[in-house]
Amino acid sequence: MKRIASLILAIVFVFSTFNYGHALSINVQYLDVKIGTSKGITDEIKITNYNSSVELALYDGNRNNLMDLDSSVSIKYDSATKKFKIYDSEDREIATIDPGKGNIIGSPDKGVIKVDGKSYRDYVYFVINSNKIDIVNHIQLEKYLYGVVPREMPTYSTGIEALKAQAVTARSFAVRNKDKHRSLGYGLCDTTDCQVYGGYDGEADMANEAVNATKDEVVTYNGSIIATYYHANSGGHTEDAGKVWSSDVPYCKGVPDNYSKGAYGYEWNYTITFSEMENRLKSKGHDVGTLRDVQVTSRTASNRAYRVKLIGSKGSKEITGDQFRGAIGYSYLKSTMFNMEKSGGTLQGSISILDRLGKILSKALSGLSVIGKDGKVTTISNPVVVIDASGTKRTLGQKTNPTQIKFTGNGYGHGVGMSQYGAINMAASGKTYKQIITHYYTNVKIEKINQ
Ligand SMILES: [Zn+2]
Repeated sequence: MKRIASLILAIVFVFSTFNYGHALSINVQYLDVKIGTSKGITDEIKITNYNSSVELALYDGNRNNLMDLDSSVSIKYDSATKKFKIYDSEDREIATIDPGKGNIIGSPDKGVIKVDGKSYRDYVYFVINSNKIDIVNHIQLEKYLYGVVPREMPTYSTGIEALKAQAVTARSFAVRNKDKHRSLGYGLCDTTDCQVYGGYDGEADMANEAVNATKDEVVTYNGSIIATYYHANSGGHTEDAGKVWSSDVPYCKGVPDNYSKGAYGYEWNYTITFSEMENRLKSKGHDVGTLRDVQVTSRTASNRAYRVKLIGSKGSKEITGDQFRGAIGYSYLKSTMFNMEKSGGTLQGSISILDRLGKILSKALSGLSVIGKDGKVTTISNPVVVIDASGTKRTLGQKTNPTQIKFTGNGYGHGVGMSQYGAINMAASGKTYKQIITHYYTNVKIEKINQ
């Protein structure tokens, strides 16, 4: 009996640690982030201490001091020896170092350093890729986030809870992807390919506060850190990841999202000619000859275009809504939650007219003139809506070979995961960052790393 009880206890214990998983055994203190554009192999890189009264120092990969430097140094690559040379402010060579993480430069006060005029916290090192110099910021995770949150979400008049939600999602991304570019000698880059990182210059007090308040917190699903997809505005309903990309993500399910309504990016329109659309589609490999028509053949539960049919002189082809959006341009077609209005081209169709002698004549719609209630005469060039004897509205005629298309849509971005402007509205209506995160990600938890 005692044995059974202890067995049950053991099972309960295992189950509860699995279920609540407070011990996230992940430890990440520092990240290696490539900063700025790559430098030419003969370029000189200038590093100065932000606090000009403090000298810089050279450290090994474990941040142990190797030697003190000047408060301002220049770095040059020597292609013959494949080493970097460090020069002091009077251009005297003071050290030679290998490329890579074993030799890092920083300030002994763990302060801010300036790299070619831009300011960064902690340390930098240098690597060579494709005969160019890449500068890498070796920086504490939390300090890196100071430089990310304000670049990924506007801080002006944004509630602290929305910034906290962004801090937790940005931290989750960073920890999950910390070795994304490791084969190039660094972990993350500072562009939208990873997360936009602006260094010390990009920091904002409110964002720092949000990072500090959520220190070490990440979003998890079944004990693993999630891929924290986010977008600017959901258009009123988020989207299943599997309906945008090829595979499903269990914690990224489409949910109604009234918080995004009326916010930035909620409504948009974009007009493009068929010939320009044809060029853009062809450049992405979608060639159907002369583009004659575009039709949405199916929609998702959130009313996004799921499949789009391209009809051309060489036949037709169906692509996904996301492929279509990508071909037209993600910043032009702000989402796949759109309707289309085509114009130009030829008006086909006819109308039956009763003449004065009571004879029914069939006339082509195109070119006919009508007199409006205001007495104004208009020449018909588009399909006409008429009300028949039973009071039903009918559209007469249809356009073939339209020349222009106007997209009218809602939302900005792919719609998967967190809506940033929705998060801002949730915070404004008194919701906490935990409520924001669990609204946009399904069945997730917020847990701590580095415990
Ligand atoms: Zn990247």
